Amino acid sequence: MHSPTLLILAAILMGIMALMLLAAWRFNRQIAGFGAWTLAYLSGFLFCISLLLRPALPEIASVLAAQVFIFLMAYLNLTGTRAYIGLPVLPKAYPMLGLAALLVVSTWFTLVEPNGGARFAVSSLMIGSIFLLCARTIAKGKIHDYPARYLYATASGFHGLFLLLRPWLFALGSNGLFDEQQAIALSQFVIIESIVTIVLMAFAIVMLANERVTLELRSVADCDPLTGTFNRRSFLTLLDKSISVAVRGNTPLSVMLVDLDHFKKINDTWGHQTGDEALRHFVAVAENCVRHGDVIGRMGGEEFAIFLPHAGLVEAMAAANRLLVAIETHPVANEPTPISMTASIGVADWQPGETAETVLNRADESMYRAKRRGRNRVEQAPTNNRQGDDWPHPGNSPATDPSLD
Ligand code: GH3
Ligand code: MG
Ligand code: MG
Repeated sequence: MHSPTLLILAAILMGIMALMLLAAWRFNRQIAGFGAWTLAYLSGFLFCISLLLRPALPEIASVLAAQVFIFLMAYLNLTGTRAYIGLPVLPKAYPMLGLAALLVVSTWFTLVEPNGGARFAVSSLMIGSIFLLCARTIAKGKIHDYPARYLYATASGFHGLFLLLRPWLFALGSNGLFDEQQAIALSQFVIIESIVTIVLMAFAIVMLANERVTLELRSVADCDPLTGTFNRRSFLTLLDKSISVAVRGNTPLSVMLVDLDHFKKINDTWGHQTGDEALRHFVAVAENCVRHGDVIGRMGGEEFAIFLPHAGLVEAMAAANRLLVAIETHPVANEPTPISMTASIGVADWQPGETAETVLNRADESMYRAKRRGRNRVEQAPTNNRQGDDWPHPGNSPATDPSLD
Protein backbone atom coordinates (compact mmCIF):
# COMPACT_ATOMS: atom_id res chain seq x y z
CA MET A 1 0.00 0.00 0.00
CA HIS A 2 1.33 3.48 -0.92
CA SER A 3 1.73 6.11 1.73
CA PRO A 4 -0.73 8.51 0.03
CA THR A 5 -3.37 5.78 0.13
CA LEU A 6 -2.67 5.29 3.84
CA LEU A 7 -2.82 9.05 4.34
CA ILE A 8 -6.22 9.21 2.64
CA LEU A 9 -7.37 6.39 4.94
CA ALA A 10 -6.01 8.27 7.96
CA ALA A 11 -7.79 11.47 6.84
CA ILE A 12 -11.11 9.62 6.41
CA LEU A 13 -10.78 7.94 9.83
CA MET A 14 -9.84 11.23 11.51
CA GLY A 15 -12.82 12.93 9.86
CA ILE A 16 -15.19 10.15 10.99
CA MET A 17 -13.82 10.24 14.56
CA ALA A 18 -14.06 14.04 14.71
CA LEU A 19 -17.72 13.82 13.59
CA MET A 20 -18.43 10.98 16.02
CA LEU A 21 -16.96 12.97 18.93
CA LEU A 22 -18.77 16.12 17.79
CA ALA A 23 -22.11 14.28 17.81
CA ALA A 24 -21.40 12.78 21.26
CA TRP A 25 -20.21 16.15 22.59
CA ARG A 26 -23.42 17.91 21.44
CA PHE A 27 -25.43 15.67 23.77
CA ASN A 28 -22.91 15.63 26.63
CA ARG A 29 -21.70 19.21 26.90
CA GLN A 30 -21.40 18.87 30.67
CA ILE A 31 -18.52 16.37 30.34
CA ALA A 32 -15.35 18.36 30.92
CA GLY A 33 -12.73 17.91 28.23
CA PHE A 34 -15.03 16.56 25.56
CA GLY A 35 -14.98 19.81 23.57
CA ALA A 36 -11.17 19.95 23.52
CA TRP A 37 -10.96 16.29 22.48
CA THR A 38 -13.37 16.91 19.60
CA LEU A 39 -11.28 19.86 18.40
CA ALA A 40 -8.15 17.69 18.74
CA TYR A 41 -9.56 15.20 16.25
CA LEU A 42 -10.65 18.01 13.93
CA SER A 43 -7.03 19.24 14.04
CA GLY A 44 -5.89 15.68 13.30
CA PHE A 45 -8.13 15.64 10.25
CA LEU A 46 -6.73 18.98 9.04
CA PHE A 47 -3.19 17.66 9.65
CA CYS A 48 -3.86 14.73 7.29
CA ILE A 49 -5.35 17.11 4.69
CA SER A 50 -2.30 19.37 4.90
CA LEU A 51 -0.03 16.35 4.25
CA LEU A 52 -2.17 15.29 1.31
CA LEU A 53 -2.05 18.80 -0.17
CA ARG A 54 1.73 19.02 0.20
CA PRO A 55 2.46 18.46 -3.55
CA ALA A 56 0.01 21.22 -4.48
CA LEU A 57 1.20 23.86 -1.99
CA PRO A 58 4.44 25.84 -1.58
CA GLU A 59 6.64 23.73 0.72
CA ILE A 60 6.85 26.25 3.57
CA ALA A 61 3.06 26.72 3.66
CA SER A 62 2.35 22.99 3.82
CA VAL A 63 5.12 22.38 6.40
CA LEU A 64 3.89 25.12 8.71
CA ALA A 65 0.23 24.12 8.32
CA ALA A 66 1.10 20.50 9.16
CA GLN A 67 3.09 21.58 12.24
CA VAL A 68 0.30 23.85 13.50
CA PHE A 69 -2.35 21.13 13.13
CA ILE A 70 -0.31 18.28 14.64
CA PHE A 71 0.69 20.52 17.55
CA LEU A 72 -2.96 21.49 18.08
CA MET A 73 -4.03 17.85 17.91
CA ALA A 74 -1.54 16.87 20.64
CA TYR A 75 -2.05 19.94 22.82
CA LEU A 76 -5.87 19.82 22.64
CA ASN A 77 -5.68 16.15 23.68
CA LEU A 78 -3.69 17.24 26.71
CA THR A 79 -6.19 20.04 27.40
CA GLY A 80 -9.08 17.56 27.17
CA THR A 81 -7.32 15.08 29.46
CA ARG A 82 -6.56 17.73 32.08
CA ALA A 83 -10.12 19.05 32.02
CA TYR A 84 -11.55 15.53 32.31
CA ILE A 85 -9.42 14.82 35.39
CA GLY A 86 -10.43 18.20 36.86
CA LEU A 87 -7.04 19.92 36.61
CA PRO A 88 -6.90 23.68 35.94
CA VAL A 89 -6.33 25.06 32.45
CA LEU A 90 -2.62 25.60 31.74
CA PRO A 91 -1.48 29.19 31.09
CA LYS A 92 -1.91 30.13 27.41
CA ALA A 93 1.78 31.06 27.28
CA TYR A 94 2.82 27.37 27.33
CA PRO A 95 1.18 26.33 24.06
CA MET A 96 2.02 29.71 22.47
CA LEU A 97 5.72 29.32 23.25
CA GLY A 98 5.75 25.64 22.26
CA LEU A 99 4.06 26.30 18.94
CA ALA A 100 6.22 29.36 18.22
CA ALA A 101 9.40 27.34 18.87
CA LEU A 102 8.16 24.54 16.61
CA LEU A 103 7.32 26.98 13.80
CA VAL A 104 10.64 28.85 14.04
CA VAL A 105 12.65 25.60 13.95
CA SER A 106 10.52 24.23 11.10
CA THR A 107 10.96 27.44 9.09
CA TRP A 108 14.71 27.33 9.72
CA PHE A 109 15.02 23.72 8.54
CA THR A 110 12.84 24.46 5.49
CA LEU A 111 14.08 27.80 4.20
CA VAL A 112 17.48 28.56 5.79
CA GLU A 113 19.08 25.17 6.16
CA PRO A 114 16.74 22.71 4.47
CA ASN A 115 16.83 19.49 6.47
CA GLY A 116 13.65 17.39 6.48
CA GLY A 117 15.17 14.89 8.94
CA ALA A 118 15.94 17.51 11.59
CA ARG A 119 12.49 19.09 11.17
CA PHE A 120 10.89 15.69 11.57
CA ALA A 121 13.00 14.92 14.67
CA VAL A 122 12.10 18.18 16.45
CA SER A 123 8.40 17.81 15.72
CA SER A 124 8.40 14.11 16.74
CA LEU A 125 10.10 14.90 20.06
CA MET A 126 7.76 17.72 20.93
CA ILE A 127 4.53 15.94 19.91
CA GLY A 128 5.71 12.65 21.50
CA SER A 129 6.37 14.43 24.79
CA ILE A 130 2.85 15.92 24.79
CA PHE A 131 1.27 12.48 24.20
CA LEU A 132 3.37 11.06 27.03
CA LEU A 133 2.12 13.91 29.25
CA CYS A 134 -1.48 12.97 28.31
CA ALA A 135 -0.82 9.39 29.46
CA ARG A 136 0.76 10.59 32.70
CA THR A 137 -2.09 13.03 33.35
CA ILE A 138 -4.85 10.44 32.94
CA ALA A 139 -2.88 7.95 35.08
CA LYS A 140 -2.77 10.56 37.87
CA GLY A 141 -6.56 10.44 38.30
CA LYS A 142 -8.37 7.54 39.95
CA ILE A 143 -7.38 5.16 37.17
CA HIS A 144 -8.72 2.11 39.07
CA ASP A 145 -12.25 3.49 39.05
CA TYR A 146 -12.35 3.89 35.28
CA PRO A 147 -11.16 0.97 33.11
CA ALA A 148 -11.31 3.20 29.99
CA ARG A 149 -8.53 5.31 31.48
CA TYR A 150 -6.17 2.34 31.15
CA LEU A 151 -6.92 2.16 27.43
CA TYR A 152 -6.45 5.91 26.98
CA ALA A 153 -3.22 5.95 29.02
CA THR A 154 -1.81 2.91 27.19
CA ALA A 155 -2.63 4.15 23.70
CA SER A 156 -1.41 7.68 24.42
CA GLY A 157 1.72 6.50 26.23
CA PHE A 158 2.62 4.03 23.48
CA HIS A 159 2.10 6.66 20.79
CA GLY A 160 4.21 9.17 22.73
CA LEU A 161 7.07 6.68 23.16
CA PHE A 162 6.89 5.66 19.52
CA LEU A 163 7.08 9.30 18.41
CA LEU A 164 10.17 9.78 20.57
CA LEU A 165 11.79 6.71 18.97
CA ARG A 166 10.72 7.60 15.42
CA PRO A 167 13.58 10.01 14.55
CA TRP A 168 16.09 7.48 15.79
CA LEU A 169 14.52 4.74 13.59
CA PHE A 170 14.65 7.01 10.54
CA ALA A 171 18.25 7.98 11.35
CA LEU A 172 19.16 4.28 11.36
CA GLY A 173 17.42 3.97 7.99
CA SER A 174 19.27 6.88 6.44
CA ASN A 175 22.58 5.46 7.69
CA GLY A 176 22.01 2.58 5.29
CA LEU A 177 20.75 0.03 7.80
CA PHE A 178 17.51 -0.46 5.88
CA ASP A 179 17.25 -1.12 2.15
CA GLU A 180 14.74 0.90 0.11
CA GLN A 181 11.94 -1.60 0.61
CA GLN A 182 12.47 -1.60 4.36
CA ALA A 183 12.56 2.19 4.45
CA ILE A 184 9.18 2.33 2.65
CA ALA A 185 7.79 -0.30 5.02
CA LEU A 186 8.99 1.80 7.96
CA SER A 187 7.29 4.95 6.72
CA GLN A 188 4.09 2.97 6.16
CA PHE A 189 4.35 1.46 9.62
CA VAL A 190 4.65 4.97 11.09
CA ILE A 191 1.34 5.97 9.54
CA ILE A 192 -0.35 2.69 10.54
CA GLU A 193 0.87 3.08 14.12
CA SER A 194 -0.60 6.58 14.26
CA ILE A 195 -3.91 5.42 12.81
CA VAL A 196 -4.23 2.51 15.27
CA THR A 197 -3.31 4.46 18.40
CA ILE A 198 -5.38 7.52 17.47
CA VAL A 199 -8.43 5.33 16.75
CA LEU A 200 -7.91 3.52 20.08
CA MET A 201 -7.69 6.87 21.87
CA ALA A 202 -10.95 8.01 20.26
CA PHE A 203 -12.64 4.82 21.47
CA ALA A 204 -11.22 5.39 24.93
CA ILE A 205 -12.56 8.98 24.92
CA VAL A 206 -16.07 7.76 24.04
CA MET A 207 -15.79 5.08 26.76
CA LEU A 208 -14.65 7.71 29.28
CA ALA A 209 -17.64 9.88 28.38
CA ASN A 210 -19.95 6.88 28.76
CA GLU A 211 -18.54 6.13 32.17
CA ARG A 212 -19.07 9.73 33.28
CA VAL A 213 -22.69 9.67 32.08
CA THR A 214 -23.31 6.35 33.84
CA LEU A 215 -21.80 7.68 37.07
CA GLU A 216 -23.91 10.84 36.82
CA LEU A 217 -27.10 8.84 36.25
CA ARG A 218 -26.23 6.57 39.14
CA SER A 219 -25.66 9.53 41.43
CA VAL A 220 -29.00 11.08 40.37
CA ALA A 221 -30.74 7.76 41.13
CA ASP A 222 -28.91 7.15 44.42
CA CYS A 223 -28.73 10.59 46.01
CA ASP A 224 -31.14 12.85 47.77
CA PRO A 225 -31.08 16.01 45.64
CA LEU A 226 -31.47 18.43 48.59
CA THR A 227 -28.67 17.21 50.84
CA GLY A 228 -26.54 15.07 48.50
CA THR A 229 -26.64 12.12 50.91
CA PHE A 230 -27.85 8.67 49.84
CA ASN A 231 -31.61 8.33 49.53
CA ARG A 232 -33.54 5.71 51.47
CA ARG A 233 -33.39 3.09 48.72
CA SER A 234 -29.66 3.29 48.09
CA PHE A 235 -28.94 3.57 51.83
CA LEU A 236 -30.80 0.31 52.42
CA THR A 237 -28.94 -1.36 49.53
CA LEU A 238 -25.59 -0.25 50.97
CA LEU A 239 -26.62 -1.34 54.47
CA ASP A 240 -27.60 -4.77 53.10
CA LYS A 241 -24.18 -5.11 51.46
CA SER A 242 -22.43 -3.96 54.61
CA ILE A 243 -24.37 -6.51 56.68
CA SER A 244 -23.14 -9.28 54.33
CA VAL A 245 -19.57 -8.06 54.80
CA ALA A 246 -20.07 -7.98 58.60
CA VAL A 247 -21.42 -11.55 58.55
CA ARG A 248 -18.50 -12.83 56.49
CA GLY A 249 -15.90 -11.00 58.55
CA ASN A 250 -17.69 -11.62 61.86
CA THR A 251 -17.42 -7.91 62.65
CA PRO A 252 -19.98 -5.68 64.40
CA LEU A 253 -22.12 -3.07 62.67
CA SER A 254 -24.45 -0.49 64.15
CA VAL A 255 -27.13 1.85 62.92
CA MET A 256 -28.32 5.27 64.15
CA LEU A 257 -31.61 6.88 63.35
CA VAL A 258 -31.58 10.65 63.73
CA ASP A 259 -34.71 12.81 63.74
CA LEU A 260 -34.37 16.56 64.11
CA ASP A 261 -36.41 17.93 67.00
CA HIS A 262 -39.34 20.30 66.43
CA PHE A 263 -38.24 20.83 62.86
CA LYS A 264 -41.70 22.05 61.88
CA LYS A 265 -41.08 25.06 64.09
CA ILE A 266 -38.01 26.04 62.01
CA ASN A 267 -40.11 25.94 58.84
CA ASP A 268 -42.96 27.81 60.50
CA THR A 269 -40.70 30.50 61.94
CA TRP A 270 -38.11 30.99 59.20
CA GLY A 271 -39.68 29.56 56.07
CA HIS A 272 -39.19 26.42 54.04
CA GLN A 273 -35.98 27.61 52.38
CA THR A 274 -34.28 28.14 55.73
CA GLY A 275 -35.63 24.71 56.70
CA ASP A 276 -33.89 23.27 53.61
CA GLU A 277 -30.70 25.08 54.59
CA ALA A 278 -30.96 23.58 58.09
CA LEU A 279 -31.20 20.08 56.58
CA ARG A 280 -28.07 20.67 54.50
CA HIS A 281 -26.36 22.11 57.56
CA PHE A 282 -27.22 19.01 59.58
CA VAL A 283 -25.66 16.78 56.90
CA ALA A 284 -22.48 18.87 56.88
CA VAL A 285 -22.22 18.62 60.67
CA ALA A 286 -22.90 14.87 60.61
CA GLU A 287 -20.37 14.25 57.82
CA ASN A 288 -17.76 16.08 59.87
CA CYS A 289 -18.60 14.04 62.92
CA VAL A 290 -18.71 10.46 61.60
CA ARG A 291 -15.78 8.26 60.66
CA HIS A 292 -14.59 7.68 57.11
CA GLY A 293 -16.57 4.64 55.95
CA ASP A 294 -19.72 5.48 57.94
CA VAL A 295 -22.65 6.02 55.59
CA ILE A 296 -25.35 8.71 55.89
CA GLY A 297 -28.76 8.47 54.22
CA ARG A 298 -31.89 10.61 54.26
CA MET A 299 -34.80 8.40 55.19
CA GLY A 300 -37.34 11.15 54.44
CA GLY A 301 -38.25 14.61 55.70
CA GLU A 302 -36.00 15.54 58.62
CA GLU A 303 -35.08 11.96 59.41
CA PHE A 304 -31.64 10.57 58.66
CA ALA A 305 -29.92 7.23 59.23
CA ILE A 306 -26.24 6.48 59.60
CA PHE A 307 -24.67 3.05 59.61
CA LEU A 308 -21.29 2.43 61.17
CA PRO A 309 -19.39 -0.60 59.89
CA HIS A 310 -17.07 -2.21 62.46
CA ALA A 311 -18.78 -0.35 65.34
CA GLY A 312 -20.41 -2.22 68.20
CA LEU A 313 -23.09 -0.75 70.44
CA VAL A 314 -20.68 1.00 72.80
CA GLU A 315 -18.81 2.73 69.98
CA ALA A 316 -22.03 3.61 68.19
CA MET A 317 -23.51 5.11 71.37
CA ALA A 318 -20.36 7.19 71.82
CA ALA A 319 -20.58 8.35 68.18
CA ALA A 320 -24.27 9.22 68.60
CA ASN A 321 -23.55 11.27 71.72
CA ARG A 322 -20.76 13.08 69.86
CA LEU A 323 -23.18 13.84 67.04
CA LEU A 324 -25.78 15.10 69.52
CA VAL A 325 -23.24 17.54 70.97
CA ALA A 326 -22.07 18.60 67.50
CA ILE A 327 -25.64 19.40 66.39
CA GLU A 328 -26.37 21.38 69.52
CA THR A 329 -23.13 23.35 69.42
CA HIS A 330 -23.32 24.20 65.69
CA PRO A 331 -26.41 26.34 65.12
CA VAL A 332 -27.55 27.05 61.56
CA ALA A 333 -26.15 30.37 60.30
CA ASN A 334 -29.11 32.71 59.88
CA GLU A 335 -29.99 36.40 60.02
CA PRO A 336 -30.78 38.01 62.42
CA THR A 337 -30.14 35.10 64.80
CA PRO A 338 -28.55 31.69 64.30
CA ILE A 339 -30.99 28.79 64.64
CA SER A 340 -30.31 26.23 67.35
CA MET A 341 -31.14 22.64 66.51
CA THR A 342 -31.29 19.44 68.48
CA ALA A 343 -31.98 15.85 67.49
CA SER A 344 -33.24 12.62 68.95
CA ILE A 345 -31.16 9.57 68.11
CA GLY A 346 -31.91 5.87 68.33
CA VAL A 347 -29.02 3.40 68.13
CA ALA A 348 -29.17 -0.34 67.38
CA ASP A 349 -26.37 -2.81 66.81
CA TRP A 350 -26.95 -5.44 64.18
CA GLN A 351 -27.98 -8.82 65.62
CA PRO A 352 -27.38 -12.16 63.83
CA GLY A 353 -30.19 -12.94 61.42
CA GLU A 354 -31.36 -9.34 61.13
CA THR A 355 -32.00 -7.59 57.82
CA ALA A 356 -31.34 -3.94 57.03
CA GLU A 357 -35.03 -3.19 57.60
CA THR A 358 -35.27 -4.90 61.00
CA VAL A 359 -32.14 -3.32 62.48
CA LEU A 360 -33.35 0.08 61.24
CA ASN A 361 -36.77 -0.54 62.77
CA ARG A 362 -35.16 -1.18 66.15
CA ALA A 363 -33.14 2.02 65.83
CA ASP A 364 -36.38 3.79 64.86
CA GLU A 365 -38.17 2.50 67.99
CA SER A 366 -35.30 3.77 70.14
CA MET A 367 -35.44 7.13 68.41
CA TYR A 368 -39.14 7.42 69.31
CA ARG A 369 -38.25 6.50 72.86
CA ALA A 370 -35.73 9.37 72.85
CA LYS A 371 -38.54 11.69 71.67
CA ARG A 372 -40.84 10.50 74.42
CA ARG A 373 -38.13 10.95 77.01
CA GLY A 374 -37.69 14.59 76.24
CA ARG A 375 -35.74 14.85 72.92
CA ASN A 376 -32.10 15.98 72.45
CA ARG A 377 -30.92 12.58 73.64
CA VAL A 378 -29.71 9.18 72.54
CA GLU A 379 -31.43 5.87 73.27
CA GLN A 380 -30.12 2.43 72.48
CA ALA A 381 -32.25 -0.47 71.28
CA PRO A 382 -32.74 -3.47 73.53
CA THR A 383 -31.05 -6.51 72.02
CA ASN A 384 -31.78 -10.26 72.32
CA ASN A 385 -29.46 -10.66 75.28
CA ARG A 386 -30.34 -7.37 76.88
CA GLN A 387 -34.09 -7.07 77.02
CA GLY A 388 -35.57 -3.89 78.42
CA ASP A 389 -34.17 -0.42 78.24
CA ASP A 390 -32.70 -0.12 81.69
CA TRP A 391 -29.27 -1.20 80.41
CA PRO A 392 -26.73 1.44 81.44
CA HIS A 393 -25.98 3.64 78.40
CA PRO A 394 -22.43 4.89 77.98
CA GLY A 395 -23.55 8.35 76.88
CA ASN A 396 -26.79 8.67 78.81
CA SER A 397 -27.61 8.64 82.45
CA PRO A 398 -28.32 5.04 83.51
CA ALA A 399 -30.98 6.42 85.81
CA THR A 400 -33.53 6.98 83.04
CA ASP A 401 -37.08 6.62 84.14
CA PRO A 402 -38.72 3.65 82.36
CA SER A 403 -42.14 4.94 83.40
CA LEU A 404 -41.79 7.61 80.70
CA ASP A 405 -42.20 4.91 78.00
P1 GH3 B 1 -40.40 16.07 66.35
O1 GH3 B 1 -39.47 16.67 67.32
O2 GH3 B 1 -41.51 15.33 67.03
O3 GH3 B 1 -39.71 15.27 65.34
O4 GH3 B 1 -41.12 17.30 65.64
P2 GH3 B 1 -40.94 17.75 64.15
O5 GH3 B 1 -41.58 19.09 63.99
O6 GH3 B 1 -39.53 17.64 63.76
O7 GH3 B 1 -41.72 16.63 63.39
P3 GH3 B 1 -42.95 16.65 62.41
O8 GH3 B 1 -43.03 15.26 61.85
O9 GH3 B 1 -44.16 17.18 63.09
O10 GH3 B 1 -42.55 17.65 61.28
C1 GH3 B 1 -41.51 17.43 60.41
C2 GH3 B 1 -41.37 18.65 59.56
O11 GH3 B 1 -40.30 18.51 58.65
C3 GH3 B 1 -42.62 18.91 58.76
C4 GH3 B 1 -42.11 19.12 57.35
O12 GH3 B 1 -42.63 20.26 56.76
C5 GH3 B 1 -40.64 19.27 57.53
N1 GH3 B 1 -39.92 18.79 56.35
C6 GH3 B 1 -39.92 17.55 55.83
N2 GH3 B 1 -39.17 17.51 54.71
C7 GH3 B 1 -38.68 18.77 54.51
C8 GH3 B 1 -37.86 19.36 53.52
O13 GH3 B 1 -37.38 18.73 52.56
N3 GH3 B 1 -37.58 20.69 53.64
C9 GH3 B 1 -38.09 21.42 54.68
N4 GH3 B 1 -37.78 22.70 54.75
N5 GH3 B 1 -38.87 20.88 55.61
C10 GH3 B 1 -39.18 19.59 55.55
MG1 MG C 1 -38.53 15.75 63.77
MG1 MG D 1 -39.69 13.02 61.65
